[in-house]
Amino acid sequence: MEEIPNKSHVLVLPFPVQGHINPMVQFSKRLASRGVKVTLITIDSISKSMPMNSNTIKIESIPHDEAPPDSYDNFLEWFHVLVSKNLRQIVEKLYDLEYPVKVLVFDSITTWAIDLAHQLGLKGAAFFTQSCALSVIYYHMDPEKRKVPFDGNSVIELPSLPLLEKKDLPSFVCQSDLYPSLAKLVFSRNINFKNADWLLYNSFDVLEKEVIDWIRTQYRIKTIGPIIPSMYLDKRLKDDKEYGLSLFKPNNETCMKWLDSREIGSVVYVSFGSLANLGEQQMEELASGLMMSNCYFLWVVRATEENKLPNEFISKAKEKGLIVNWCPQLDVLAHQAVGCFFTHCGWNSTLEALSLGVPMVAMPQWSDQPTNAKFICDVWQTGLRVKARENGVITREEVASSLREVMEEEKGVMLKKNAIKWKQLAKEAVDEGGSSDKNIEEFLKLVFALD
Ligand code: UDP
Repeated sequence: MEEIPNKSHVLVLPFPVQGHINPMVQFSKRLASRGVKVTLITIDSISKSMPMNSNTIKIESIPHDEAPPDSYDNFLEWFHVLVSKNLRQIVEKLYDLEYPVKVLVFDSITTWAIDLAHQLGLKGAAFFTQSCALSVIYYHMDPEKRKVPFDGNSVIELPSLPLLEKKDLPSFVCQSDLYPSLAKLVFSRNINFKNADWLLYNSFDVLEKEVIDWIRTQYRIKTIGPIIPSMYLDKRLKDDKEYGLSLFKPNNETCMKWLDSREIGSVVYVSFGSLANLGEQQMEELASGLMMSNCYFLWVVRATEENKLPNEFISKAKEKGLIVNWCPQLDVLAHQAVGCFFTHCGWNSTLEALSLGVPMVAMPQWSDQPTNAKFICDVWQTGLRVKARENGVITREEVASSLREVMEEEKGVMLKKNAIKWKQLAKEAVDEGGSSDKNIEEFLKLVFALD
């Protein structure tokens, strides 16, 4: 039998925000650990502010004169122009007979990257940093009308998904006018299905079984998740502890010391991820709700959000809470003191909580978060969702009572039991021979076999 040379070079191109960088850096490390040469492509403002701490993957950074735009929507277009101008040069620079560049693993949100890959003679693998359920929703949206087909009903029924109300749908399909570039990309994501050579999802088969079964009737997708540093799924793997490219500086020592001094299951961890912004009124309700709950809490308030905290809250809350600008989230979720995750339901945070067996209180903000919350509460049954008033605000009473339900009541015991079950299933998926492990192996075989 002809021997397949296993020397190959894969480029990985995440959209440069934290929630996309984390799983794609981790995926890069998985590939590198199996003998592939991997180069991660990012932009100077990121690689210079926080150097990558990995010796297994290389970074190729694109210089830029102007700072990236603040608005997420404009950032997408800006990134598109920058990568289009520079990718050819990068591929030429990396030319190496022994390890030829063969594949571009691109962020599924950058739908345009598949054309760039093909123009350069590379295969393109779309990496989805969101759930498979999201793809089913986007697949069914009409790109012309940009509307959700409710047909006069209050719920929408889509194959393989639970009935969805408006509050469960991704924000871009309901508020497409607010984020025109994003909405355009979201509605054009089916381009990936048609044109990409591979479709890789940061999910695992049993987690979204019906959804994945349905997608597989249409397209050949590979589930390769949960892509989180393996040490958290297997404590023997001490070296793989971080994603490796953090855009924020975590307050490790303070957080861990504080948690060490708390009793098992007594702390609520609160975070809204790297992008979501709460209004001032909502910050005040949340702050008061945390105090009312009487639970201990560790709250990540990014530096840019700190000015929205009520006056002197940090010093008033000292007895019960610790407020930091960023934390080592995986270490926090894995800490025995943490009994509940009050979360915005970003896809990484959702997977991390499931993989570490932590029940959640869901307070989704935008993007895919409402749909993730629906699955957390109704499908996986590992969390509760706070109810908003008509003006959209979640009151302090609602915050406090949801937390008490998870931390102190019977319902919380059931949620914890389910969370532990998902933790085990996540581990099985990535363990040797598990569904995601096998899919990564298969992907690599195909990459190695490319001419
Ligand atoms: N994260 C972290 N420290 C924090 C808050 C978040 O390390 O204090 C990480 C978290 O572990 C996750 C990522 O940042 O991997 C956030 O991604 P997610 O998809 O949950 O939310 P996004 O930031 O994209 O809204």
